Amino acid sequence: MTKTARAAVMTAAGKDLEIVEYPLPGVEPGCLLVKVTCCTICGSDVHSWRGRRAAPTPAILGHEIVGEVVELGEGVTRDTGDRPLRVGDRITWTIMDNCGKCYYCREKGLMMKCRYLKKYGHDSCEEPPHFIGGFAEYCYLTPGTCVVKIPDPLGDEEVAPANCALATVVAAWEAGDVKPFENVLIQGAGALGFYAAALARHYGCRRIVVTDILDHRLDLIKSFGATDAINVNRMSDEKIIQTVRNLTDGFGVDCAMEVGGNPDLIPVGLRCLRTGGRYVEVGNSAPGALFTYDACDIVWRRLTLTGIHNYDARHLQAGVDFLDQTREEFPFKDIVTHRVTMDNINEGLRLADSGKAVRVAVIP
Ligand SMILES: [Zn+2]
Ligand SMILES: [Zn+2]
Repeated sequence: MTKTARAAVMTAAGKDLEIVEYPLPGVEPGCLLVKVTCCTICGSDVHSWRGRRAAPTPAILGHEIVGEVVELGEGVTRDTGDRPLRVGDRITWTIMDNCGKCYYCREKGLMMKCRYLKKYGHDSCEEPPHFIGGFAEYCYLTPGTCVVKIPDPLGDEEVAPANCALATVVAAWEAGDVKPFENVLIQGAGALGFYAAALARHYGCRRIVVTDILDHRLDLIKSFGATDAINVNRMSDEKIIQTVRNLTDGFGVDCAMEVGGNPDLIPVGLRCLRTGGRYVEVGNSAPGALFTYDACDIVWRRLTLTGIHNYDARHLQAGVDFLDQTREEFPFKDIVTHRVTMDNINEGLRLADSGKAVRVAVIP
């Protein structure tokens, strides 16, 4: 008899997830079967669940996943970093399976925009192998997935948000070309903001200014390297811009990153840049995020604006290495603030949507 396993399934956007049993797939060559040990709830899971962005159904959401290898398909002997891979190893993996051969994969270096992209936690789970999302007991990895073995000292909850939040922030600072002794602005003190601050500190940035409207998050981000954590709740845009300029000898920051997911932050962030500054837009990952800006300011002040959506395999590896190297320096454990079991996942999603939690971990 075929063994079955449980998954929390989104049958329609806006509805509570339902527990469904699916048959476990046989493991094909080049594939892996993984027992999920932890999956954290990302903002985009909440967007899909609330119907703020189009998502196919039925779907198993969840892509910030950590698990243990249960079965290796024929030919799978090493992870993407060429480390030997065995049954029982703890791994995480890229949010996507990309073909490696198409125009974007091969010619343009944009594997996250592969023309034949499959994304964990985003595609329909109707057909076998079913288990292609993190809110389930198992996950089935297909051959175009880049697997990263997790160093022993890192806990599951510490490393789960690496596959999305941290890897995306690594890609974003790379796009912003952040250098030592530069001044940076981070708009948003959620999980991405925490990682952005820690990385900026690690890179040797001088002023690491963070804005948000929640005091408890601003307090916490100081332990992730923020030099100035500012509550902008009652501040006018002009006041925010002046405050950031005052912190940077009157010039403004070299680079700013928007991770708050609010389009209103973009005009303020752009005006906080020094002449020649770089702006990296990350947070607005649901359509309809409109903003108005004077293009003349971009021209006259030589500003650069870049969007970052997901990441490349090397960013995930760098993220895991960063956690391993700096785990004594920054309280990454504090990013997961709440835990739920799969049976209570709807409660977990509501918590994640409320802003009370930084990251909610779902333990199958
Ligand atoms: Zn491709
Ligand atoms: Zn995500």
